[in-house]
Amino acid sequence: MCTRKRAYDSVGHALGTAVHRVSTGEARALRAYRCPYCRLWHLTHKRALA
Ligand SMILES: [Zn+2]
Repeated sequence: MCTRKRAYDSVGHALGTAVHRVSTGEARALRAYRCPYCRLWHLTHKRALA
């Protein structure tokens, strides 16, 4: 399921990429989350539920 997503080995790396993508207009808002399947970090456009 997450094999098609890019995974990051640290939250810092994931957030750095998220900031870059938002700054370039590629994405409006991204957040990083720890994947329970591969235990790496992914970025998502979805809003946080909490
Ligand atoms: Zn994953």
